[in-house]
Amino acid sequence: MNSSEKDSPPSTDSSSPVARCFALVPCAGSGSRAGTLKPKQYELIAGQSMVMHTLAALGSVERLQQVLVVVSPSDSHVWPEAPEGQRARRPFQRIACGGDTRAESVFNGLSYLLKEGEHKPEGVQAHDWILVHDAARCLITELEINRLIDACIDDNVGGLLALPLPDTLKAAVNGRVSQTLPRQDKWLAQTPQMFRAGQLHAALKAKQAENFEGITDEASAMEMAGFAPKLVVGSPHNFKVTYPPDFALAEDLLGSRT
Ligand code: C5P
Repeated sequence: MNSSEKDSPPSTDSSSPVARCFALVPCAGSGSRAGTLKPKQYELIAGQSMVMHTLAALGSVERLQQVLVVVSPSDSHVWPEAPEGQRARRPFQRIACGGDTRAESVFNGLSYLLKEGEHKPEGVQAHDWILVHDAARCLITELEINRLIDACIDDNVGGLLALPLPDTLKAAVNGRVSQTLPRQDKWLAQTPQMFRAGQLHAALKAKQAENFEGITDEASAMEMAGFAPKLVVGSPHNFKVTYPPDFALAEDLLGSRT
């Protein structure tokens, strides 16, 4: 496909159905950098497991038709119950098709959703939007998700929440600075990342034979397929809980919201 084909607007004839929004939550990581006994997304933060905070935020977004959570086959027995009164407003579906990498988990989940959609008119269709959001970004808010949807819903490609890099950027060799890199035009990618289900699936499929090498988020797959995803300013609070000190920070921030 050449770039002019990609830049052309999606068909707007009256017979083309309105694109709906769905969410897909990769939740199948082992969280090895977190230093926790169980995968970090199941650790308790401010009274409930990390993933339940994430699902509560997604569940509060009216425009999301359905939320699919991709868990690891080995974690299917550890699913936490949300405390009474804190259940997500929108039901979610859980499927144990997590892969060895985040990209593989997303690809498997998307393959499942699109296959289901083939048989059900209300299921995910290729032109629908998929918002992929890390289970480990439990500080995402309804407001930020809606900001991303508002910014991308009429876009030809889609986009992602991200933050302009505030700090000076260093390259390192053996723990010492080898170079200071220009930070101009550098952004830190977050999630959700919102793309057309069919285009994202095709972009990931193109990298499947290479074990999704170099695909660290959905935008990178779309970029390799020749698209230029839109950057939508996110919030510093929407960090990915990754290292041990991140848990206390997430607990403080979530605790301060109630
Ligand atoms: O490991 P990291 O924090 O970068 O993972 C980001 C998100 O991707 C997490 O929510 C994690 O559970 C998920 N993931 C996954 N399958 C993997 C690895 C990570 O669903 N194999």
